Amino acid sequence: MQLPVVNHPDYVAKINDDNKFPIKKFGALAKHLLKKKIITKFHIPKECSIETMQTSHSLEYINQIKNKTLNIKLQKKIGFPINDSVVRRSFVATGGTVLTSKLALDSRLACNTAGGSHHATFNFGAGYCVFNDVAVAANYLKNKGYAKKILILDLDVHQGNGNSEIFKNDKDVFTFSMHCTSNYPAKKSKSDMDIELKEYMEDTEYLNILNYNLKKLNELNFDFVFYIAGVDVHHDDRLGKLKLTDEGIENRDKLVIENYFIKRVPLCGVLGGGYNRNFDKLIELHSKLHKSCANFI
Ligand SMILES: [Zn+2]
Repeated sequence: MQLPVVNHPDYVAKINDDNKFPIKKFGALAKHLLKKKIITKFHIPKECSIETMQTSHSLEYINQIKNKTLNIKLQKKIGFPINDSVVRRSFVATGGTVLTSKLALDSRLACNTAGGSHHATFNFGAGYCVFNDVAVAANYLKNKGYAKKILILDLDVHQGNGNSEIFKNDKDVFTFSMHCTSNYPAKKSKSDMDIELKEYMEDTEYLNILNYNLKKLNELNFDFVFYIAGVDVHHDDRLGKLKLTDEGIENRDKLVIENYFIKRVPLCGVLGGGYNRNFDKLIELHSKLHKSCANFI
C-alpha cells in the first residue's frame, strides 16, 4: 500500500522574494517525494469550507481573510501579505489537512505536504500561520464522530500556542507541545502538556525526553493523532535554537510514528516549521516524515 500524501500546487503562494518565509519549499518537497519515489501520486485537496473552518475560527476572521480586509497590523502579525494567492493557499492547505486526516482513518498513516499552522488561533493568525489547519481537522473528525480522543503532538521548535488556546476548554482534544523555551512565542500559552527544552539541546537528550513523554501519553489512550513534525529543531535552522542532527530528526519521526502505528492509532502527519539555512537540506529534512511513514505502511 502506498502512503497517502496530500499536495496542491497552490500551496506555493505568491509572496515577495524578500519575505523570510521559504514558501517555495512546498513545491520543492512535492517534486522531491516523486523524484525519490517515496510516492507516485498525490491526493488533491479542495478548499476548506467556511462551515468547517468555523469550528476553529470566528466568522469575522474568516471573512477578513476571504475578503482581504484584514488590517495591516494583523497582516504583519501573520508575516504574509493577504493577497489572492495567500488566501487561496490558506483555504486549500487547511482543506489539505482535513483530507489527510480522513485518509489516515483508512490507512493508519497519511501526510500532508503542508500544514501545522499552530500559531493561528480563533480570532487571528500569527507567525506565518493564517488558519489553524490541525485544529480545523481535529474539530472536523470530532464533529463527524470519526475520533473521540484526539492528541495533537507538536514537536515543532516553537510552542503550539494556537492549538492550546483553541482547545483549552476541550477535554476531547489533548494538546502536547515540546519546544524550546527561548523560541517564539515569548509569552507561552498553556497546553495540556508543555515540555520546555533548553537552548542547544542535542539528539540524545532530546530523544530521551521524547521517549519518556510518549510513554506517559500512551497511558491516555488516544484514538487519533496529529503529528506536527517541524524540522526547525535542526542545528542549522535560522530560527530554531535546538541542535538536532539529520539523524536525530529521522529517529524522532520514527519513534513517534512507530509508537502509534503498532497501537493501530491513525496518525496524520503535517510539516510544521522549517527555515534551514540550506534550502535543499530543508526539503530533505521535511521529506523524512513522508519517508518514515512510507516505510511503515
Ligand atoms: Zn516552528
